[in-house]
Amino acid sequence: MIALYPGSFDPVTYGHLDIIERASQLFDKLIIVIMENDEKKPAFSSSQRKELLEKCISHLPNVSVKVGSGLTVDFAREHNCQVLIRGVRAVSDYEYEMQLATANMTLQPDIETIFLLARPQYSFLSSSTAKTIAKNGGDLSKFVPEIVAEKLTEIYKISEGN
Ligand code: ADP
Repeated sequence: MIALYPGSFDPVTYGHLDIIERASQLFDKLIIVIMENDEKKPAFSSSQRKELLEKCISHLPNVSVKVGSGLTVDFAREHNCQVLIRGVRAVSDYEYEMQLATANMTLQPDIETIFLLARPQYSFLSSSTAKTIAKNGGDLSKFVPEIVAEKLTEIYKISEGN
């Protein structure tokens, strides 16, 4: 069975990577898709986000990364994915995730959303938290892998210089 893990991954954090490792053990194949979303102004381009994700998952042979646009369920159908994976951190994620999963279920009843609970140490970790820490020169080592931390530090140094 092929599962799809959609998200913004702007940038990938240890929380995402934990979900990726766990989902990769549950399914034959896992496709991570960076969904382009006009409503969000990302810090990293989709190709930068893809490159970072690819470096972080190189030890997982059944995982691949793609960039997509449009509806997640359409992407899932085109790539033969029967399952959507989402991570749930706190109660605050619940309403948004329920809205998305219900819409996807209505659009495409054959595709199931499966939620994986965030590991406690990552349950307050988001890409925005990592960006805020980077902007303010904080220690990123518990939040994102080294290569991601380097890129985050780089982009905020550049924007400070402007
Ligand atoms: P989106 O913009 O689609 O919410 P994100 O990249 O922020 O994209 O997140 C993708 C998915 O990963 C979402 O289901 C989100 O709840 C989940 N997620 C994000 N951070 C974590 C974390 N620290 N632990 C577990 N799941 C997470």
